[in-house]
Amino acid sequence: MQVTALRFKRKAKQNLRNARLQSALSKIQVRFVQARADAIADLDDFEAVRQRATAIREGVLANLDAWLERFEQEATRRGAVVHWAETAADVNRIVIEIAQANQVKKAIKSKSMVSEECALNDALEAAGVQVVETDLGEYILQLAHEAPSHIVAPVLHKTKDEVSDLFAKKHDLPRKTGIAELCREARDILRPHFVSADMGISGGNFLIAETGSVLLVTNEGNGRMTTTLPRVHVAITGIEKVVPTLEDATTLVRILPRSATGQDITNYVSVLTGVKRADESDGPEQFHIILLDNGRSAMLGTELQSMLRCIRCGACMNHCPVYQSVGGHAYGWVYPGPMGSILTPLYAGLANTLPLPNASTLCGACAEVCPVSIPLPDLLRELRHRQSTQDLRPWRERLGLRVWMWLALRPLWFARATALASRVGHRLGGAKHRLRWLPGAGGWTHGRDLPAPAGKTFRALYRARKPR
Ligand code: SF4
Repeated sequence: MQVTALRFKRKAKQNLRNARLQSALSKIQVRFVQARADAIADLDDFEAVRQRATAIREGVLANLDAWLERFEQEATRRGAVVHWAETAADVNRIVIEIAQANQVKKAIKSKSMVSEECALNDALEAAGVQVVETDLGEYILQLAHEAPSHIVAPVLHKTKDEVSDLFAKKHDLPRKTGIAELCREARDILRPHFVSADMGISGGNFLIAETGSVLLVTNEGNGRMTTTLPRVHVAITGIEKVVPTLEDATTLVRILPRSATGQDITNYVSVLTGVKRADESDGPEQFHIILLDNGRSAMLGTELQSMLRCIRCGACMNHCPVYQSVGGHAYGWVYPGPMGSILTPLYAGLANTLPLPNASTLCGACAEVCPVSIPLPDLLRELRHRQSTQDLRPWRERLGLRVWMWLALRPLWFARATALASRVGHRLGGAKHRLRWLPGAGGWTHGRDLPAPAGKTFRALYRARKPR
């Protein structure tokens, strides 16, 4: 998937004017925000679970190499093959090699954001392998030739009517309008693919080091069928997803669905270990696990390491006023919202994603709801700092910040400058005490007036106060 984050502002403006998209985005409040609040309220020890989850994730990162090696040993001992991929291109190459070695003609997929990160579908199709998405949301997007706009609900940006139109056109069947009918229609189309596919491709929510297992949480049965029906199963996930024990994974599973969709638990929790044994009727003959780095290890030991704790619940974007208004496609890559505004610059380069760390009000709602306590606003600020020190911001902004810094380090000049600005601002405010335009702050004054300053600085008012 091409990174188009540099077009964030233009896309955000278009999306704000798109009434259909705004109607689709309005679902976030009830489906996610309220649902999470209810689920968290029902959990007596939410804060304790959150602290435990944070400690598990941080503990793993302190010894990531050791836990990954342990995972590889245990997975290999049970018949899986572990592959290491440094880049997205490596993932695609490995999957194509596996497909070619096994004469794979058709691959079915369950939802995997890492495979989106690698643009795996395009690579497989170019290599002559038919790819069928089986997660309902991903299937709809495949029909529409669109990218996901949310990491948990990839088709959040579409209304039911749009899906009805799409199915009628692509399936060449009478238009259905009920959700159950639409689901049944998709199921009828997808079922034959499950039995005829040679390869199943999934993601992995957690890798369990002590058993070499891949843990998957899903709400549709497609995940289980994708991972057990075809003769070859390929699981692709990031290296940071490893946890030491099954118990650690279940602690995280207590908090993941609650934060994501407000469910106590997802409909399916699958622990996939090794290949089909001689006395078993289900399961793949080959189980390949591809562990992707793609910039992750470079975050270790830096100010941004805590971002690797992310368990991809989507709560930060659900609660972000910017995401709620502009939707996921504005962010221009796989990961939207606050987590995407940090991950995309790190994976795709700071210079290619300049608007993203600034696409936040830093209100702190994201950090408040993050189940693994990632200080997202601090990380966004760190990226802004890097943009500035690497001279990636516009010269006007850099000059403005330098002037501000110069003043801030000289209290006398700072006091004079703020007193002058306050007087000028007060005059410009006129009788209504409102500023309709402010140089360099057009974004603020374009949609609303700014209250004019009082004409005196806080210091002056403080000095003039009457003693009690
Ligand atoms: S940053 Fe936190 S809230 Fe956002 S997706 Fe990751 S775990 Fe969830």
